[in-house]
Amino acid sequence: MRPTILAVAEPSGEHPLPVSFETFTAAAMLAARTGGRAEALILGPKAPPSTVPGLDKTVVIDNETLSEYSPDVYAAVLAHLARTRKADVILMAATATGKDLMARAAELLDASLAQDCTGFSVEDRGIVFARPLYGGKMVADVYVKTQPVLATLRPRNILPGTERVPADVEVVQVDAPAPRVTVETDAAGPAGRPDVTEARIVVSGGRGMQGPQHWSILEALVDALGPDATLACSLPVSNLGWRPGSEHVGQTGRTIAPDLYIACGISGAIQHVAGISGSKCIVAINKDPEAPIFKIADYAIVGDLFDVVPALTAAISELRKRDFH
Ligand code: FAD
Repeated sequence: MRPTILAVAEPSGEHPLPVSFETFTAAAMLAARTGGRAEALILGPKAPPSTVPGLDKTVVIDNETLSEYSPDVYAAVLAHLARTRKADVILMAATATGKDLMARAAELLDASLAQDCTGFSVEDRGIVFARPLYGGKMVADVYVKTQPVLATLRPRNILPGTERVPADVEVVQVDAPAPRVTVETDAAGPAGRPDVTEARIVVSGGRGMQGPQHWSILEALVDALGPDATLACSLPVSNLGWRPGSEHVGQTGRTIAPDLYIACGISGAIQHVAGISGSKCIVAINKDPEAPIFKIADYAIVGDLFDVVPALTAAISELRKRDFH
């Protein structure tokens, strides 16, 4: 088989976000392993990237209706492009938008979808996707029998390729239907900060924060850590309305794999750990030395977070100042 692989860019921002380059890289890897061809698909009147990781084509869909994400319009356009470009495989990042759009496109294409996969292999029977289950305790091999094969890939699992080639851009005009649904609130990351699934550094607060009024100390830590850092929280925190649901990580929330996860006042319940166990380095701050979070932490700080967090922020700010001089 020599499949045509479409890598759909995350439909937000003027330029493709870093998570889109992970999808492009996955498509290029899959094309290399199968002898197929990979195309990036940029939905909406956006500036294409000048270089891409080994893609045969970068297709930009120039239609003003696509300037804002609208679920039904995007799904109709994606399904149309899948048919006209004879796609065998369609990949997208497993962000909130990616999971929403791909599920809708799968329905229109009468195809199956492997959601939230962490990798793939090419076998005699076809592409087999790895999909974690039960909070990562098991990994299912998912083989999609329908055509095209649709899959979303968990962010920060496939590193974006650094070897890039100039993008061969094709601008395509497509009729888009009038939107029946409009998105009024965007549950993406807090203003000016990356989305929690894409951030390299995540500072997370639990019930130990004792109320929303104390989040300023976590915001100060995030600010000190720089533009790659963002905020997250445990389920009770979003249930209590202290923080927005988009920040909740865990089994029933977002699954993240940052380079650094700093858990502040979080006990480390199994359902919380399910969403953060892919983190490269976990720092836990908890006043209870028996807190379960310490079992998975790389660095355990036993202490009152109201003392530890400001001290950490001050130390990081000091180090950063020294770096700049
Ligand atoms: P707590 O368990 O109350 O822990 C607070 C911690 O803060 C304690 O360890 C305490 O020692 C510490 N602390 C208190 N004060 C301080 C201080 N001043 N300084 C330092 N440390 C302090 N939870 C999630 O997070 N994500 C999920 O996706 C999720 N999904 C779930 C799904 C199901 C089906 C179920 C049943 C539960 C789920 N939960 C989830 C809830 C989970 O079981 C825990 O109840 C929850 O994670 C606990 O949140 P917490 O750690 O913030 O609070």
